[in-house]
Amino acid sequence: MKLIQPLVREHALSKDDLVAPLFIDETAGSPVPIPSMPGQVRYPPGDIALVVEQLREKGIRAVLLFGIPGRKDAAASEAYNPAGVIQQGVRSIKALVPDMVVITDVCACEYTDHGHCGIIGEGPCGLDLLNDPSLALMAQIAVSHARAGADIVAPSCMLDGMVAYIRKALDDEGFPDTAIMSYSTKFASALYGPFREAADSGFSFGDRSSYQINPANGREAVRESELDAREGADILMVKPAGFYLDLVAEIKKLGLPVAAYQVSGEYAMIRAAAAKGWIDERKTVMESLLCIKRAGADLIITYFAADVAGWLYEEQ
Ligand SMILES: [Zn+2]
Repeated sequence: MKLIQPLVREHALSKDDLVAPLFIDETAGSPVPIPSMPGQVRYPPGDIALVVEQLREKGIRAVLLFGIPGRKDAAASEAYNPAGVIQQGVRSIKALVPDMVVITDVCACEYTDHGHCGIIGEGPCGLDLLNDPSLALMAQIAVSHARAGADIVAPSCMLDGMVAYIRKALDDEGFPDTAIMSYSTKFASALYGPFREAADSGFSFGDRSSYQINPANGREAVRESELDAREGADILMVKPAGFYLDLVAEIKKLGLPVAAYQVSGEYAMIRAAAAKGWIDERKTVMESLLCIKRAGADLIITYFAADVAGWLYEEQ
């Protein structure tokens, strides 16, 4: 039976499935550890190309970049600065490691002084995110990333009409081959807490519940991804991953590649329990990712990517 097992195994994790999220911090002079995400750091801009080269040597094919700018304002102007932290990071990575797929997070929350994902103004229910000015901002950010050399832009703020708007802007500016990975199904989850410390993107007021999906709503979750598929998204996403595997499976049926994001809280829970000796870290990580794949994910975004690449190498 043991001999037959590998032949009948339905799924196996591969390095090709993995996307490594990385934080680039314009204010850092050396790597800054992130206390709520043990093992993860914010890299100074000067280090990022070398870090990515090492990941490529380990067999990782894709990275997802988040930026922490040196300056924040209400308009998120550093987010589309051609010399901004992400734009410089992409250029330096592509110069050193041209065969690494570079995906950039397209959002404003790390760049606004109020911590929200776009332009804030007076709405029908008081201060709120304004959809149309925020769309224009997202398009501007996406085009600046494409111009720097990003292969895939990943708009994360779930504004209405965002994918179509960005697709048109990319095409108009001469980037028809730049793909869009939409954070199409993003839940209002409690599991994002450690990321906010990592990306320095807490709020000065309110939260994001007005533009993220209630964890109770499965039909709405599928509908959101459906809309983005129709607007021209190349890759759909479910975020977080582990609590939402039913939605990974459902959204896979829409016919596009699906990315699943194992978020900071999922990472932190495994790391913390393993540090206490309560679970076996390696086995838990591999099981969590294999189950995400079994549910239907084509791409798995995980802070464990570098560890897993090493473990998969040992298992060969
Ligand atoms: Zn955001």
